[in-house]
Amino acid sequence: MSELVRCARALVGGSERNDFAFVVRDGEIVDAGDFKPLRERHPEAPTRAFPSDRLVVPGFVNGHSHAYQILLRGWADDWSFERWRDEALYRVVPQLEPEDVYWVFVAAFSEMLAAGITTVAEFFYLNGRGNAHAEAAIRAASQTGIRLVLARTWMDAPHAPEVFRESIAEARERTRELRAAHPEANVCVAPHSLHGASEAMMRAAAAFAEEEDCDLHIHVAEAQSEAELSMSRFGKSPVLALDSLGVLGARTVAIHAIHVRDEEKALLARRDVRVIHNPTTNLYLGDGICDVVGLLERGIVMGLGTDANVKPSAIDEMRAASHLQKLARLDGAALGASTAFDLATAQGARALGVSAGDLAAGNSADFLVLDASAIDPWSPPGNALVYRGEDCWVQAAFVRGARAYAGEPSLLSLEARRQCARIALRCGVGKECV
Ligand SMILES: [Zn+2]
Repeated sequence: MSELVRCARALVGGSERNDFAFVVRDGEIVDAGDFKPLRERHPEAPTRAFPSDRLVVPGFVNGHSHAYQILLRGWADDWSFERWRDEALYRVVPQLEPEDVYWVFVAAFSEMLAAGITTVAEFFYLNGRGNAHAEAAIRAASQTGIRLVLARTWMDAPHAPEVFRESIAEARERTRELRAAHPEANVCVAPHSLHGASEAMMRAAAAFAEEEDCDLHIHVAEAQSEAELSMSRFGKSPVLALDSLGVLGARTVAIHAIHVRDEEKALLARRDVRVIHNPTTNLYLGDGICDVVGLLERGIVMGLGTDANVKPSAIDEMRAASHLQKLARLDGAALGASTAFDLATAQGARALGVSAGDLAAGNSADFLVLDASAIDPWSPPGNALVYRGEDCWVQAAFVRGARAYAGEPSLLSLEARRQCARIALRCGVGKECV
């Protein structure tokens, strides 16, 4: 069954189109273009029409998230990274049972859908007791309707909580099982980082990605302390250390890439590594500023992520990505609205290897209906969205042609909020910890 979606206003390939339409069949866009010829080509298809006070745009792609970190926001915000890790992250997340993971992920994914995020790459590190927790995350994605890329973490660093750690054999076996059981979850492998996974685990993960022909996500050069640790352990910077371990290649998705010298940017480009930039989290944690312009100039494919999820919002990430580059380069032309929008949509989808991010044939029918009434008539809608857009402009979010957000919180998301309050209380989360 096909459906023709007619849009008085749409953003297609980053540009505004009027009376644009696309045809959805089995969740995929099979044809797209001006309404009249499209209507002639598909005379039987029923029409869903959005008038000129609506703007239809592709759904946003979130390239990096830790959904359970919504429990850490609003109280542990102003601690040093070490204190935040040891007294918030390492204390709270290990207490989560699979059922808790389900509810926390429903809450986080519901917030993302309400902010127009239709694809999320979850970097999931609660795997020490088997796959039950990861399966709860997958169930949360399927019940909220968001598209999931599960970057299934491998960790064996002795300092990490026991419930994060696995042997290489366990990680390999369980990741293989998860991939076989859940093809819809796009499970790929994610050795945590240079500080979270041993040299042997890193090499094994790279071999796994090759054998299984899947992507490999990894945190790279996020904090200054990681660069120092890499120098003392390997005598090399994080990028060069990972390259010597055989981790960098066309399957690699590097998260952050902040503390990276020019010759290392060139190396990342030569290895065809993709990069996910997480500007609001970098600001929040005081990590540093990724040289997005320098990476893009070298031809690296990039996307944006909400990482710590203090406020999961693709609009905020686009705005921060642009502002940070302007500031870092003292140049108002450094990274404009159209590039920021591309990073959050088409290019971000390429960075994750998913067919989405534009209203074009061959892509999944992931799209948003935005309230266009706040867009000044003299403003290109992409500029309005990036520099003054609000998440509340999102009136509906569709994933694979099905409505996953309808303009107000679902009953499931309201229940998830209640469950999160209960979980937070049980885990000793909150203002009395500050
Ligand atoms: Zn992360």
